Amino acid sequence: MLTVGVDVGGTSVRASVVDPNGGVLDTERAATPPTAHELNEAIATTVRALCERYPVAAVGLAVAGFVSEDRRVVRFAPHLAWRHVAVADELAARLGVPVVLEHDANAAGIAEQRFGAATGARTATLVAIGTGIGAATVLDGEVFRGAHGVAPELGHLRVVPGGRPCSCGKRGCWERYCSGTALARTALERLAADPGAATALAEVDRTALTGLDVARAAEAGDPVARWAFEELARWLGEGLALVADVYDPEVVVIGGGVSGSAHLFLDRAEQHYADAVTGSGHRPVARVALAAFGAEATVVGAATLAREHVAAGREDAGRGDVGVGDVGRGGVAAVTGAGCGRRGAAERGDR
Ligand SMILES: [Zn+2]
Repeated sequence: MLTVGVDVGGTSVRASVVDPNGGVLDTERAATPPTAHELNEAIATTVRALCERYPVAAVGLAVAGFVSEDRRVVRFAPHLAWRHVAVADELAARLGVPVVLEHDANAAGIAEQRFGAATGARTATLVAIGTGIGAATVLDGEVFRGAHGVAPELGHLRVVPGGRPCSCGKRGCWERYCSGTALARTALERLAADPGAATALAEVDRTALTGLDVARAAEAGDPVARWAFEELARWLGEGLALVADVYDPEVVVIGGGVSGSAHLFLDRAEQHYADAVTGSGHRPVARVALAAFGAEATVVGAATLAREHVAAGREDAGRGDVGVGDVGRGGVAAVTGAGCGRRGAAERGDR
């Protein structure tokens, strides 16, 4: 069975056909339009283009935003036009196949747990370190979403009371100390405290300093940049110790753009984690692994969740209770009739 995963980002929509082993077969892209109606249309158009070439059984959408607990409505996505839109139902009606929604970090977490760095682990946590922190937790093989579909917001765990202000309105959130943004902030704080420091970062426009600038300088051995990575390692370790207190994961997967510089911080972070965890030295600790998937994680995870929901629906139908054609199972909005791929073939025949 082939399914499509769609990563609905603030600047572009990416739709990929994914096979049952997590392999990406084909991809279509479009720019993200400004209105909800145009966005639905853009997604439907990219998916239909794939349906012309492959028999697609279901579609999974990965969204950076709040999804309702039944995962059929996008409540709020800061970089998208959807506000309380029943996206799954609308797209299922347009495409003629089941559509499931998922938070993008959860989709990435499923990709890693089913096919990537956490394969086989019953309990795993993904910490994607980029501009902020995106996190997902898989418990007993299933995504943990909490009662209202918003868990786990690990990036906003408060690690420093009264610390750096965060866009969420709080202070001292984990991602303010452990992210690409944090690397730049830490380097600037170091420069302010030691204006005479011998560092190439002193030449960079301080209002425009990025985590990537700090990573490049650290690669060249710059002491201030190296210090920023030391601090990131410390806070990553401290945060993982908190995560371990809550979930006790078997594997922690580190992903996101900053993980490309893992050789600059990951060993030290593991040391800090092992030292900071409750019962340090007297208990097993999670294995820390680098993500196996890069930018494809979200489409692979979303497509995999779509496939699993269709398979679960068939099992239910076999027992004579609920079929795939019923709407109301968690996250699945389905319609009866020809699948997306078959409809595409019929349309070609009509011409
Ligand atoms: Zn925050």
